[in-house]
Amino acid sequence: NLDVTKAIETIRRIKDIVDINKEYLTELDSAIGDADHGINMSRGFAKALEKVKSNEYNDIGSVFKDVAMTLMSTVGGAAGPLYGTFFMKASMKLAGQKEADLPLLAQAFREGLQGVVSLGKAQLADKTMVDALTPAVEALESAAKDGLSLKQGLEKALAMAEKGMKDTIPMVARKGRASYLGERSAGHQDPGATSSYLILKALCDALE
Ligand code: ADP
Ligand code: MG
Ligand code: MG
Repeated sequence: NLDVTKAIETIRRIKDIVDINKEYLTELDSAIGDADHGINMSRGFAKALEKVKSNEYNDIGSVFKDVAMTLMSTVGGAAGPLYGTFFMKASMKLAGQKEADLPLLAQAFREGLQGVVSLGKAQLADKTMVDALTPAVEALESAAKDGLSLKQGLEKALAMAEKGMKDTIPMVARKGRASYLGERSAGHQDPGATSSYLILKALCDALE
């Protein structure tokens, strides 16, 4: 299960994987955006890690809440408030919990995704992070229904997020900066869908 130690380990791993892929995310964002997604994510999760390392926590909700507040205040652009909202809504579901099993995490991530959608108004196939997060959350929910372990559920979610990420390549963007390009946005993988995949990868790896 995901406890406070593993939640903090998850943030450490997100920071690391985002750093390793900083140039890659920037490259993706330079094709259809303003080339700052790698920098935004790297700065945000470095600050988030600093914050959670410097605190003592009794519940996982508070860890995610601090991450949310840090992302909202340090990451500019679209992704900061969107990921901030994701972590904030998820944290509300996890408030007071010492640990999360698969059904609880699935619920928390569903709330997080709903937060992203109500803030950003992106629908499926608009070529955004929603295209990676939606199939991932659906996979978590169906794995929970099937009684799978948290790790098994996350592995399924990761596979679906990866597919969702790749599926953004032919899409024409209808939200965010990439939408300014219209048809020319097709043929490029969405940076935010890619960072969503990386975040899930880090979470999955933290639960070894
Ligand atoms: P900005 O575009 O402001 O520079 P980033 O480069 O950090 O911000 O993030 C861009 C990513 O944000 C996109 O690749 C996309 O996945 C995501 N995004 C942008 N607008 C929306 C939206 N309305 N809903 C969901 N995701 C969005
Ligand atoms: Mg950008
Ligand atoms: Mg920007």
